[in-house]
Parts: sequence; C-alpha cells; structure tokens
Amino acid sequence: MAETIFSKIISGAIPCHRVYEDEHVLSFLDIAPLAPGHTLVIPKEPARTLDELSDEAAAAIGRVLPRLCRAVKRVTGCAAYNVLQNNEALAHQAVFHVHFHIIPKPDEQRGLGVRWPSGSLGANAAELARRLAEAARGA
Ligand code: 5GP
Repeated sequence: MAETIFSKIISGAIPCHRVYEDEHVLSFLDIAPLAPGHTLVIPKEPARTLDELSDEAAAAIGRVLPRLCRAVKRVTGCAAYNVLQNNEALAHQAVFHVHFHIIPKPDEQRGLGVRWPSGSLGANAAELARRLAEAARGA
C-alpha cells in the first residue's frame, strides 16, 4: 500500500494530538474537525478500505471504539454523535488508510450533515439478501 499521511502519523514522521494508542490502534484528533472533539481511530495495519482489513485489526478497532466514543461524549458533553467510515473517493475517502471518525453533534449546524435519499425495498429483496448472505459466507 502507498504511504499516506496516516502511515506517517503512525511512524511518528508527522505529529498528531494523540488520544489513544495500543499495539494495533492509534487514535488522534482530526486536523479539520467538524465539531470540537472530532476524533479519528485508525488501525496500525496498512489497509486502504475496511474490506481489506484483517480480522485481528478489525477486532482491535472494535474493542476500543465504544471506549473512545464514551471519552468523546464525556469530554465534549455531546450525547449525540456519528461514527463515520468512508471507503474510496466517491464515498468521500480522502486519506487512503482505513479510519473511523467519531464526530460529536453539538447542534444542527456543527458535526456531520447527512443526505439520506431513502428508497424502498424492491421485489428482488429476498434474492438480494440471499446473494449477500452467500457472499458473506465466502468472504
Ligand atoms: P476521510 O474523508 O478520508 O474519511 O477523512 C480524512 C480525515 O483526515 C479528514 O477529516 C481530515 O481532516 C483528516 N486529516 C487529513 N490530514 C490530516 C493530518 O495530517 N492530521 C490529522 N490529524 N488529520 C488529518
């Protein structure tokens, strides 16, 4: 995988405001926060998108995410927050090293704004679910 800003942060070549670190995970403040306390959580394992992450690295992230969310809630005083994880440029990924955003939502203006163009399940829903279930078993 090509070097990214985040691999440079992991190696210490670029500084960050560190929030948490263990063998597999690093967490630090986002340099351009959508709201105060906007925190990033990244695996140390180099992976471009979430689907490329090993089970071990994914488990390590999953273990600490709730704890980091509690820390963000406690320190910002925000009960509302979003956890966001973008994959590929079309889905707004700008840094091509897996990362989770924890974004406090203090009010309507700050934090994450979401466009949610809901559709409805079509007649092929059962077939779609069956195919996805089959793919998940083989993934
Ligand atoms: P993405 O759009 O890829 O999901 O989000 C990347 C995030 O990384 C953005 O919110 C951006 O502000 C943050 N970011 C980019 N470069 C740096 C950096 O050098 N340091 C820190 N702390 N955050 C960064």
